[in-house]
Amino acid sequence: MEFEAVIGLEIHVELKCVAKMFCDCPNRPGDEPNANTCPTCLWFPGATPRLSQDVLEKASLLCLALGAELQPKSAFDQKVYYYPDLPKGFQLSQAHLPLSRGGSIDITDENNEIKRLRIHHIHMEEDVAKLVHEMEGRQPISLVDFNRAGAPLVEIVTEPDFRTPYHAMEFLKALRTQVRYSGSSECSMENGTMRVDANISIRPKGTTQMNTKVEVKNMNSVRHVGDAIAYEISRQGAAVEMGEAVVLHTRLWDPDKKVTLPMRAKFEGPCIPDPTVPVIELSPAWIETMRSRLPETPAVRTGRLVKKYGLSNEEAALLSTDPEVAVYFETLTAEGVTPRVAMNWLITQLVPALKDRRQEAGSSPVTPTRLAALLKMLAKEEINANAAREVLSYMFDSVDSPEAIVAAHGFQQVSDSASIESLVDKVISDQPAAVADFRSGQGKVLGFLIGQVVQASGGKANPKVIRELLTRKLGGKP
Ligand SMILES: [Zn+2]
Repeated sequence: MEFEAVIGLEIHVELKCVAKMFCDCPNRPGDEPNANTCPTCLWFPGATPRLSQDVLEKASLLCLALGAELQPKSAFDQKVYYYPDLPKGFQLSQAHLPLSRGGSIDITDENNEIKRLRIHHIHMEEDVAKLVHEMEGRQPISLVDFNRAGAPLVEIVTEPDFRTPYHAMEFLKALRTQVRYSGSSECSMENGTMRVDANISIRPKGTTQMNTKVEVKNMNSVRHVGDAIAYEISRQGAAVEMGEAVVLHTRLWDPDKKVTLPMRAKFEGPCIPDPTVPVIELSPAWIETMRSRLPETPAVRTGRLVKKYGLSNEEAALLSTDPEVAVYFETLTAEGVTPRVAMNWLITQLVPALKDRRQEAGSSPVTPTRLAALLKMLAKEEINANAAREVLSYMFDSVDSPEAIVAAHGFQQVSDSASIESLVDKVISDQPAAVADFRSGQGKVLGFLIGQVVQASGGKANPKVIRELLTRKLGGKP
């Protein structure tokens, strides 16, 4: 029998807020354990939570960026469960009246067709504490770190519109781009600021029934989500073919063994309205103010970059994926770098280097102004492209200007003919075979000879000057 999958996603996104959701403690889970705590986020009895305005605004921007409708009235519920990472016995979440409903993302599917994947609702939720399991001598112990307790999250719950792992992966990539644009979250699966659960069931292809689903929890890369869904579809298919029933339960993806494994379910209690956090009422005027604060969407920015800078659609889309990179590009061009050079250096040099160093374009020590200064030296032929790449790598660890780095490391390009001429003469006498090939009409040998001279100069000789000297000495163009 041929099956098709019915897949829905639940995506937790950590909001990029300075403080926690219901108190003023810093929202920095990575600090010294339990450094960022107070009675409210240690969940002491009697401490009253106050919803942060910043959290509400960032969450609302995120909803609007995904085309969702902010609800005039939303409220918090107590999601009851008991676990050592939640000693108060409930998590503040929005079960009955979520912040927004609706919204969607369009993706291009495997057949190159546009598929709309709908969002059911988006709600706010506080994060729980973190359990750390360690050994004390031979004794296994568990420690609780409350730095993460009360960290602001939103959960995006989709409709079960997905049919393939590809749909899920494309949706997540587009979601990440759009949420980053809203400025609400870095949405990094590597850093744990975006986590994905998938609900998966299968049914005979062409039918519309909804069968028992299995939930795969806590996946932390787009690829894992795709792999886990593919695995689960074939596992459920095989079970059904064998005449077994699919049982409702929760599984975890094991990225090493490439399988999903059943996990023990937490006790889940009821969701009851919370009496402490006031109901959130959003006026139409406030919602419009939020909407006006949304930056350009990636699609709109792509179109504008094509028009304004003469980039191809593909290049502009590449730059627009990360809003910080797009802003960086425009600042570079405003500093006088040509759009083509700015684009090439960003995509082939700066972005890979930032990735290696886990830096963001907007906060890197290599600011657009410094990179522009470097690229101007390149344009003026004060340094060559090789040297420019080396200077760039120094710039990540130094506050010196590119000019100072060039001077300190002797990266200046040598362009005066006299000093290059002796090197050219030496290469001509050292490479009789290549010289003979050139004279017999094999023009491509010239590149090799230029390379030899550049090497002899320690990488500093200006290739343009070498080319002129070589062609003149070898008797013009072959
Ligand atoms: Zn606190």
